[in-house]
Formats: sequence, structure tokens, C-alpha cells
Amino acid sequence: MRTNWAGSHVYEASDLVTPTSVAEVQELVAVSPRIRALGSRHSFTDLADTPGLQVSLAGLPSTVEVVGDAVRVPAGLRYGDLATELAPRGLALANLASLPHISVAGAVATGTHGSGRRNPSLAAAVRGLEMVSGTGELLRLSGADLAGAVVGLGALGIVTSLDLAVEPAYDLTQVVYEGLAWPALLERLEDVLGCAYSVSVFTTWVGEEVGQVWVKERTAPDSGTGAPAEPVETLLAAGARPATEQRHMIAGMSVENTTAQLGVAGPWHERLPHFRMGFQPSAGEELQTEYLVPLSRAAEAVAAVRGLGEALREVLFVTELRTIAADDLWLSGAYGEDALALHFTWHREASRVHALVERLEEVLLPLGARPHWGKVFAARAEALAPLYPRWDDFLDLVTSCDPQGRFRNAWTERHLGI
Ligand SMILES: Cc1cc2nc3c(=O)[nH]c(=O)nc-3n(C[C@H](O)[C@H](O)[C@H](O)COP(=O)(O)OP(=O)(O)OC[C@H]3O[C@@H](n4cnc5c(N)ncnc54)[C@H](O)[C@@H]3O)c2cc1C
Repeated sequence: MRTNWAGSHVYEASDLVTPTSVAEVQELVAVSPRIRALGSRHSFTDLADTPGLQVSLAGLPSTVEVVGDAVRVPAGLRYGDLATELAPRGLALANLASLPHISVAGAVATGTHGSGRRNPSLAAAVRGLEMVSGTGELLRLSGADLAGAVVGLGALGIVTSLDLAVEPAYDLTQVVYEGLAWPALLERLEDVLGCAYSVSVFTTWVGEEVGQVWVKERTAPDSGTGAPAEPVETLLAAGARPATEQRHMIAGMSVENTTAQLGVAGPWHERLPHFRMGFQPSAGEELQTEYLVPLSRAAEAVAAVRGLGEALREVLFVTELRTIAADDLWLSGAYGEDALALHFTWHREASRVHALVERLEEVLLPLGARPHWGKVFAARAEALAPLYPRWDDFLDLVTSCDPQGRFRNAWTERHLGI
């Protein structure tokens, strides 16, 4: 029995194959009526499943090459492994998700993001991609062709490599603040979320205090490692104080799993993720849900969810609030508008979670909320289509890349209507 990382979905795919060359991927696609790429299995639903064959790209050569001002990355590589290739070359990515354990192609395909008022989703770093389409043809896309294809949900083809924008390596500090009162956050929501390079607010929605604010700030290029972080005035003025010990955002979980805090500077890939490579991220036995609302509706969205606080209490481990800068990727949650992401880490209790997801969608979809494609949500294609101005263009692109519907599955039927 093969399952996703959370153990919440048993794959129905007849087999998982691990080709060692792109030509082999092309042959597999050409002979398989149903087929689907599988990354590191961190999505929470049947999104990566298929009634046919699943294909892992982990067996392709893992060489990372510099190509102009980008790096060409094998699709199955995990961000943590990519970072260990980039760091010795003095290179970095602009942002990472909360965990480095996920594959680059799987993260990009689902619009995965980190945080930061000026940081778009990880998919926005893609400068080119190579993909085996549903006809078995190898396509190389760049420029304007990327907008529809990058957040592709695995429905357009099997991506074999991606070119990602890089920049000179940099260091950050990470400080966790505590004691922020709800009225202070509501009054200064955008200031708090924008007070550093990357900010995450963690809350359980109940009580007088919000919870924790994780603040990641880039150090000045010449400050060297070991420089302590300056306290953030916005947070101090709002009554928050820096924690004096390492913290986990979920009560009772081991802090050993978290990246170094307490203001000690360290390299980008050891501060941007909340969790350490090689260690257990998050809670483990869990489900996740996330909605991206236009930042202009952030205060309404936070107030609406806070109104459900008591109902969420028993099923919720924690919520994380983050910002994502706008991009032009057709199926991105931040397409055309800066967004606030409201994330929910749930206990792995599927029926109770589904009931709460319905309640969340009742209050958030009217505000323009778009669900995270890799997480648990309820909205069907009819409800989703109006939220994405390029929805019909995306469906046309699916048909042209995959005329025989090899990459379709039960998830695409429910949520894309194909
Ligand atoms: C503990 C935890 C923390 C998380 N934190 C964050 C976070 O901070 N921010 C965030 O936005 N999300 C987060 N996520 C969600 C996660 O980033 C997404 O679920 C993402 O899809 C995981 O990538 P994966 O490789 O595991 O995908 P998989 O589950 O393996 O696949 C997901 C989709 O990608 C497609 N895919 C995979 N590889 C390819 C390929 N080579 N070509 C074409 N399609 C492909 C699959 O077909 C499928 O449709 C988190 C998940 C977990 C479990």
C-alpha cells in the first residue's frame, strides 16, 4: 500500500515507475492511457493519483547546471538537495516554503509559496521548463509560454527539468515574537505582515493573544554570520516580545525539527524554511488546507475566520498567515493580486476537516479566496472557474498538451471539470 506523505490518501495507481532517462519518460507516456507524475508525495489529496501509472522523476540524473542567470534543475530534486548544490556556488533562491523536503516540480505545479510582502510564489522563479506532453513529445517552454504552464497541476505533462532564477547567496536571522494581542494585530495587520523579508503569524484563533510571529530578515551583505537581529519596532510597538528559547509553532512538538531562531544569522536555506531537512516537518499525522485571498480583503478574511474560532478549536493544530506577492501565472493563487494566505494544519480527521472546510469556503470564497491546489478543499470546478481570469485558456492548454487525456484523474474531474 503506497500513500502520500501524510498517510491521508492511498494511491490507486497500479504501479510507480522510476525512469532513468527523458527518452524513457517519453516512451512511458506514449504507451500509457493514464499516467501521472509523482513528486515527493506531500500533497494531501488524490491530486497526484491516477488509475494508471505513476512516474517518479527521482531516477533522472541529478546534475544542476548554471544556464545564464538561472540554474537548470532536474524536476524530481527536492529543494533541500538543490540548496546543497547551490550554496557552495554562492547562489540562492529568493524564497522557500516552510519545508525543504518537497520536490521542485511538485511544489511549482501546485503554486506552493513561502512568505513575504514582496515575494511571489516559488513558481514565479521559473524561467523555463522542459516537459513531456501527452503525445510523448518533449517541449521546451520559456518566456510568454510559461504563464499558463508553470502552475500546471500535473495536467499538462511530465516536467523533466526547470530553469530557476537565482541570486547571490545571502544570510537571514529568524526571531519568534510572542504576546501580540489580537486588537494590535487587527489594527496593524499589513504592517506586521510586512515588517521583514518573510513573516508568518501563527494562531489557533482563540484567546486574547494571537500566538507567535516568525520574523525572517535578510542581514546586510557585509554583516557576516553571527550578527544578532535588531528587534522589529512594529512588533514591539504592538506589545510583542522576542522569545528567549527556540519554539515550534505546534504545542508539544519537538523544537529539534525547526530551523535556528533567536536572531542568529545563517544561510538562506537554513532560515527561510521553518523545518530542517532530515527532520520531521509540521505534525506528521495531519491534513492541511489553505486559501489565498486578495490582500485588499485580508482584514475581512481574518475577521470571518476568527468568528469560527471556537468551531475550529478541536480539529486545528495551528493556522499560519502569510503574504504572497502577485504574479502572472494563470492558476496561481496570487494571479494578478497580492494575497494573504490563511493556512490550517488539522488533525488527521477527514470527516471533521471536510465539514470545517465547507464552513471556511462559505465565508472565504465570496472574498475571492483561491484554494491551495496541493491541500484539502471542497470547491468544484463551477465555483473555481470565476476566480481565475485565465481558467478557460488553461483548459484549452490542457487539451492541446494532452489531447487524449492521459494526465486526467478523479481530482481533475472534480476540480477542473475535465
Ligand atoms: C508538512 C508540509 C508543509 C507544507 N508547507 C507548505 C508551504 O509552506 N507552502 C505551500 O505553499 N505549500 C506547502 N505544502 C504543500 C506542498 O508544497 C504541496 O503539496 C506540493 O505539491 C508538494 O510537492 P510534492 O513534490 O510533494 O508534490 P506531489 O504530492 O508529489 O504532487 C503534487 C502535484 O504535482 C504534480 N507533479 C509532481 N511532479 C511533477 C512533474 N515532474 N511534472 C508534472 N507534475 C508534477 C503531481 O502530478 C501532482 O499533481 C506543505 C506540505 C506539507 C506536507
